[in-house]
Order: sequence, then C-alpha cells, then structure tokens
Amino acid sequence: MIYIIGSGFSGLTTAFILRKKYKNITVISPSKKERIKKSGTLLKYLLTFKGETKFNSNKVSNKISSIEKTIYKNCKFISSYQDGGLSNIWGGVLSNIYQFNLKKFPFKFNNLKKIENNYLNLEKLIFKKNFKMFNRSKKINENITLLNFNKKNSNVENLKKYLLAKKVNFKYDLYLKNIDHKRKKIVLYNLSHGRDVKLDYKKLYLAAGPINTAKIILNSFSNFKSLKLKETRHFFCIVKKKIKLRNIKYFKFEKNNLKFYSQLYNFKDIFKLFFNFKNVNIFKNFFIGQCYLDSKYSGYIEVKKKGKSNFLITGKQKKLFKKDISEKLTQFNNKNFDLKFYFPIFNSIGSSNHLGSSFPMSKKKGKFNTKLNGELYNFKDIYISDSSVLNDIDMQPITTFSLINILRMNSK
Ligand SMILES: Cc1cc2nc3c(=O)[nH]c(=O)nc-3n(C[C@H](O)[C@H](O)[C@H](O)COP(=O)(O)OP(=O)(O)OC[C@H]3O[C@@H](n4cnc5c(N)ncnc54)[C@H](O)[C@@H]3O)c2cc1C
Repeated sequence: MIYIIGSGFSGLTTAFILRKKYKNITVISPSKKERIKKSGTLLKYLLTFKGETKFNSNKVSNKISSIEKTIYKNCKFISSYQDGGLSNIWGGVLSNIYQFNLKKFPFKFNNLKKIENNYLNLEKLIFKKNFKMFNRSKKINENITLLNFNKKNSNVENLKKYLLAKKVNFKYDLYLKNIDHKRKKIVLYNLSHGRDVKLDYKKLYLAAGPINTAKIILNSFSNFKSLKLKETRHFFCIVKKKIKLRNIKYFKFEKNNLKFYSQLYNFKDIFKLFFNFKNVNIFKNFFIGQCYLDSKYSGYIEVKKKGKSNFLITGKQKKLFKKDISEKLTQFNNKNFDLKFYFPIFNSIGSSNHLGSSFPMSKKKGKFNTKLNGELYNFKDIYISDSSVLNDIDMQPITTFSLINILRMNSK
C-alpha cells in the first residue's frame, strides 16, 4: 500500500498526481471533517501569544495533545488535524509561478507552460472555476511592484470527491507516531480506541504540514535531533495609498535589502463591521496591510526532540530586526508619495503560517536533504511531500507554489 499522511492541500495533491502511477493509495487523517467556526479559531489565535492553536473540536485537540507532550517557546501557529487540514481555514489567495524566484531551486523549470497547465487542471478541480495565471506584474515606482493574484476560498472537498471516484482510499482516526523503516511499517495511534496499530507500507509520503512532518521524522530516526524551519515573518501595518492606486490589493516592496509582500484589507469595511459607522469616507485611502517578510529577514522555528515523546518548538528571532524594519519604513515614507506604511506591529514567529524548507531538495546527498523527487537520501521509499521540501519560503502566498512543486516532483 502507498500511504499518504495528511489530507490537506499537500496530501490530496500528492494523491492526485500519484493515482496515475499507483493503484493502492490510502490517505490518512487523524479526524473526519468537523463543524467548527473559523472566526472563533482565528480570534483565539489572534489573542494567543505562543503555542499551537488547533482548528479542531476540544475532544480531538485534547486527544492529539495527549499523544506527545509539546512545549512551545517564542512562536505561534495554527494547525488542523481534521480532514482537509488548513484548507478549511486558509485565506484563499492564489499566487503565481511567474512571480517566484525559481533560481533558488536546484532544477530547471524548463517548461513553465506545461507545469502551469497541469496546476490549472488541479485548481479547476478544487475551485470549480477556470483561473488564469498572470505572468505580468506592474512596477509603480522603483520600490513597489503590483501583483495580480486570484482569490477564492475553497477547501479540498471537491478534489476529495474526485479522488474517491478514482478509487483513492481514505482512513480516519489515525495519527502517525513514527516509522519503523527497517520493517517498512508505520506506527499509528488510533484515536477512537486509544491503541497503537501497525501498517505495512510500500512507499510513504509525508504531507502532514512542515511542523508535524518534522515531528514524525524526529520520532522515527535517531540521527535527527532537531530540525530548522524557515518562515516569512509577519507584520501588520496601516497603509495609506493614493487615489490612483485605489484598486491595488497585492504588492511587493523592495528597498535596500528590505523585502516584503503585502495584502491590503479595507479599513473602511472593518470599521463598518465593528462600529456600525455609516459614513466612513475619511478612511477611504487607509488600509490594513498584512505583510510577509523575506525569509532572510525572518526568524526560524526549531523543532527539537526532548526525551522519548516530548518536543520543544522554539521561535528564534534575528537580532535588531524590528528596529531595522521600522527605521527603513520611516525612511521610505519620507520620500515616497504613492504608498506609506505606518505603525508596524510584529506578530510572533510562525504566525504567518508560511513555513517549511526543513528538507530542501538537492542533487547532492545530505542528511537534511531530499532528492529532487522528495525522497529522503538515507531512507528509501520515504518521501516528503509538503512545503518542507521547498528550497526557500517565498514571501508570497505559499500554497500555490508548494502544490506546483508537488506536481513537479511526482510527474515523472
Ligand atoms: C489563517 C490562515 C490563512 C492562510 N491563508 C493563505 C492564503 O491566503 N494563501 C496561501 O497560499 N496560503 C495560506 N495559508 C497557508 C495554507 O493554509 C497552507 O499552506 C496549506 O493549507 C498547507 O497545506 P498542507 O496540506 O501542506 O498542510 P495542512 O493543511 O496543515 O495539512 C496537514 C494534514 O496532515 C495531517 N496530520 C498532521 N500530523 C499528522 C500525523 N502525525 N498523522 C497523521 N496525519 C497528520 C493533518 O490532520 C492534516 O490533514 C494560510 C494559513 C492560515 C492558517
């Protein structure tokens, strides 16, 4: 049996591409889809300073927490152990292969058009809509480039229906604890009867999201003691823009080594929603900018094994980075008239949920590297199939590019 661990975007995209090669594919998820309010979890997350906010019912969250003890320091992130994973709560902004720095990857994207078409077929299944991938961006001044992205909130339900029709199996209530590589078995905790079960695998694809994939690897192989995950650090600020830029929503900022990507949210609508203001015209040029820093400027997350079933997950910050960014933004505001950035508020490490790069692909054998198809160098038939294998975590929305990479890794 080919097992895929995780039923989020990564797991189902892996099943989508592998079903052409293999017949016996099973996707594993710790819980079925649950009915929980997205807004409640997001509010809880906003008010949390550190730790993992689980987008699950209390019952499932408590069961998951009881499997392994995890201590969190200086970081926060959301995870979801229900069917569909974070696709049930994500923001729906679809990025674009033409906007990524492909030079950071150890292979050539020879035929972008072919990759694009393959990905658009997948998108059509997920969103039930034909999208275009815009390969043009527009520079409005030497520091700001406007981007053209699609947005559609949808989870993986449509893709799952398609996979079921193609005879892909789904198993629930199973949480992967570790891999017995010598015997080619996986050890899973059954959440409904509370006991471990073992299953034989032919090939294993880990698509549990970068933090949980790291935990599975650390639990399975004693030569890994800790793993580092890159991120794109997050900050919010108030953005003022000129009338001529009224319709811009997504843009990239680059000046003297400071790079970030930003999405703008309507300030006017937020005030209307919370304070029931009727006439809010004074806010029409003000927006809330949700900004993602380049991974060079961001910190990183370290996942460390502590004892037999304990983990320590720590956010590590780059020195002086807040002061540096605030100063650079002030300098920029003094000279620039199209867009201005005020009051940056820095969120905890990990809170962008743009994480990964813990097992970057490489042509050279390395302990922390995978082959260009995602297979771990020293552990045959174990493939990493989520954002853990990306060679860099770009500041732009991560999901589209990660899925394109999963299609690329498995298409031969
Ligand atoms: C609030 C929010 C907004 C976002 N907005 C955007 C956006 O607008 N655009 C964008 O590109 N990205 C966005 N993202 C990021 C996006 O959600 C993720 O990149 C994407 O969903 C990751 O998919 P995944 O399948 O790799 O991981 P996940 O969705 O995390 O799926 C992991 C799966 O693995 C399972 N699992 C975990 N551990 C185990 C285990 N031990 N055993 C068995 N199964 C396990 C889980 O149950 C789950 O099914 C956002 C994220 C958040 C939190």
